[in-house]
Amino acid sequence: MIRLKGKDRRLIVVSNRLPFHRFVDDSGKDVWKKAAGGLITGLEPILKKCKGIWLGWDGIRTEGIRKEDFRLVDIAEIESEEGEKACKACSYQIGCVPLTEKEFDEYYNRFSNGTLWALFHYFFEKSFIDYSAWRTYCEVNRRFAEYIHEIAEDDDIIWIQDFHLFMTPYYLRKLRPNQEIHFFLHIPFPDIDIFSILPWQDQILGSILCCNTIGFHHKQYLRNFNEAVRLYRKEKTGTKGMETLEGSVNTHFYVNPISIDFNAIDRTSRKHEVLERKKEIIRQASSPKLILGVDRIDYSKGIKERLLGMEMLLDEHPELKEQFFYYQLVVPSREDVETYIALKKEIDEIIGRINGKFATGLWAPVHYNYGTVTFEELVALYSAADVALVTPLRDGMNLVCKEYVAAHSDNDGVLVLSRFAGAIAEIKNCLPVNPYSIEDIARAIYHALHMPKTERKKRMRKMRKNIKHHNIDTWLQNCLRNFELAQ
Ligand code: UDP
Repeated sequence: MIRLKGKDRRLIVVSNRLPFHRFVDDSGKDVWKKAAGGLITGLEPILKKCKGIWLGWDGIRTEGIRKEDFRLVDIAEIESEEGEKACKACSYQIGCVPLTEKEFDEYYNRFSNGTLWALFHYFFEKSFIDYSAWRTYCEVNRRFAEYIHEIAEDDDIIWIQDFHLFMTPYYLRKLRPNQEIHFFLHIPFPDIDIFSILPWQDQILGSILCCNTIGFHHKQYLRNFNEAVRLYRKEKTGTKGMETLEGSVNTHFYVNPISIDFNAIDRTSRKHEVLERKKEIIRQASSPKLILGVDRIDYSKGIKERLLGMEMLLDEHPELKEQFFYYQLVVPSREDVETYIALKKEIDEIIGRINGKFATGLWAPVHYNYGTVTFEELVALYSAADVALVTPLRDGMNLVCKEYVAAHSDNDGVLVLSRFAGAIAEIKNCLPVNPYSIEDIARAIYHALHMPKTERKKRMRKMRKNIKHHNIDTWLQNCLRNFELAQ
């Protein structure tokens, strides 16, 4: 249990996706695959400790919504060969919330990703206003709230994650006026001029203000949020057909940037197999320097601009041909969304053009891998890379840059980091760039490739010290401290 406010409490984490994804094999049997990510690493130990529950969508699109599709499964049953007979002493449960095909399209693809993700990352021209998608978003958020209500005990701490579930606190507060409900936003909260575009801004603010705490990754996101709340409270005329509930709690806001499991990555980077793999990667690169990019495919990640920066660098410095090798890992994401399909095509074309323009004999500047790699392979790639290019046009936090630093137990390596990544607030010794400026990117790569070893080491040591200190564990402890401070 978690000791909070003098009581032993159970934690219920709520997010769009569960930490395990379900597939149905040819014989009709459920197959569960563990997902990866900072949040999962951070929350699993505490969920196990308090015998908690993680509630979310399991990944299956159903034909309709049936009572039996809502179910609690103990993760010991999924992870152990023994199935239902597995020992459940040190595990937690997952609670599945079903989604239909239409809901997946409207709640997830259209409203969460098409409207909110685009707008909150400042791509207002990509964001669209679709009333039908909004209604489905609200229905799904209400379903989450009703399922939480069904399984929660009065003393449970409910912790809702991220923009997919902005409206869940509103529905839940109606059902449970005295429940402790917390919210954490993992994407930027945009400037008021951007946020005001959203026709449902009042409903969203009114809903998250039903929470006891709201956490953000960066103080600018909190400033923007405060400004939005100030205006909302001044101009409020009632939330268009929705009862106002937000006055029922005194919401506490805080800033706490999420981090990574520094020690696990550091330890992995020192493993014999990983060191061997690192040597092999360097040998295969067959260039004096290796530059790395690791991104989920997304227009917010700035992959195109980064490639154009690379092209400008080679145009201006032909002497750099054969002097480096750029490896870009692009992780597939939202593969059925038109914008992402088009982006992949554009990236393919730019890489083809750059390689066609600069390749000499056996050397080509860009190697591109569209897929995922194992954790150990990723750590080997990070530690083999002399330079990491992390240049999102906008990113709530960005964990790749922190992982790159954690993997450099050799205290070497240069991080080129976007001024628009939330992580920039904590990582002072990187090379900061404006990711929209291809000149700036070209200059930063040149600087990184020519930085003397003593300076590289000095910077890397400082970055490692910071991230080691503020790791995923300290993030979680800070969140819990803020829960304690709340009403
Ligand atoms: N990652 C992964 N498999 C891969 C490559 C990357 O699981 O093949 C992970 C990586 O370790 C990082 C995450 O994907 O933790 C990306 O997180 P980030 O915050 O940088 O961006 P997001 O994709 O969440 O926007």
